[in-house]
Amino acid sequence: MTATLVFYSQFDSFEEWQALLAPLLPNVRICQEQDVEDPDQVRYALAWKPPKGFFARYRNLQLLVNLGAGVDSLVGRDDLPSIPITRVSDPDMGRMMASYVLFAVLRYARDIPAFERAQRERRWHYLHPRLPQSLRVGVLGLGELGAYAAAELVRQGFDVRGWSRSAKQLDGVTCFNGLESLDNFIAGSDILVVMLPLTTETRGLLNAERLALLPAGSCFINVSRGAVVDQQALTEALASGRIAEATLDVFDREPLPPEDPLWGLDNVLITPHLASVAIPGSAARQIADNIERLERGEPVLHRVDPARGY
Ligand code: NDP
Repeated sequence: MTATLVFYSQFDSFEEWQALLAPLLPNVRICQEQDVEDPDQVRYALAWKPPKGFFARYRNLQLLVNLGAGVDSLVGRDDLPSIPITRVSDPDMGRMMASYVLFAVLRYARDIPAFERAQRERRWHYLHPRLPQSLRVGVLGLGELGAYAAAELVRQGFDVRGWSRSAKQLDGVTCFNGLESLDNFIAGSDILVVMLPLTTETRGLLNAERLALLPAGSCFINVSRGAVVDQQALTEALASGRIAEATLDVFDREPLPPEDPLWGLDNVLITPHLASVAIPGSAARQIADNIERLERGEPVLHRVDPARGY
């Protein structure tokens, strides 16, 4: 009786994951849904956005691994089994996200959009470089990805502030927590980086009133989920120039429809939700470790709390 891990994703390569996981889990059969021989043997699921009712067949499921860091599409479902749910949180994913955030912050800190515009006009446009410590970079969300990005920003010399739900201590980062500190935090961010999960508490958190607290001429970066931000209010603030620049990787509707006004704004950089991805080479070890922990009766790591939403 071989325990089975069932894989589901329309975005990720089954063959790649199987090739990496199989040597780490020699006693586990790894297959896709259509190749499951006996549903009762399925103990583990590695899945990204499985269809409704996916879990019902697998009565002996013991662990559900979300094939990604964001679990908002999973935790709201009404067909979730009452078993431990974990998420991918490998360091390579954190590094990839941090590189995107660093790129976006440095692009503003070094006034690159102004030079891009000047170049299009064949105009020599000298702007004296600003010192990184003169720029306050606010990171909303200090989780696995946010804390990593904040540390990289500290290394670059920025005045880094971070905001989270619970109190934190991170080297070189001035940490804030709780809703009561949010408005001041936003008002003190020359560059605001959104790295929060989408939950019932964070949906619409950056509404028109909060966006209006950003200092005039500030820059905005969203790599978390579009619905954390009031996209219409953001668009208006960018169109008026009150928010000077934005780098947006996520939107309230994806793909962003061709008629969306954000496409037409010269001060917005749009990327198609790829700031970071689960990286099989480093995440497979972590998934195998968790399965081994489960087999030994030990608690699994990187657990998601469906009630909390992340
Ligand atoms: P984590 O779950 O590790 O961390 C979440 C952070 O947000 C924690 O610091 C948490 O606070 C904080 N937080 C959550 N709710 C609140 C709240 N109500 N008020 C204040 N702070 C809150 O997430 P990750 O860092 O791994 O990932 C963040 C998000 O990035 C993911 O949820 C996903 O949506 C997005 N993502 C986007 C990708 C992309 O390509 N664009 C790729 C991967 C992820 P505390 O520490 O106190 O719990």
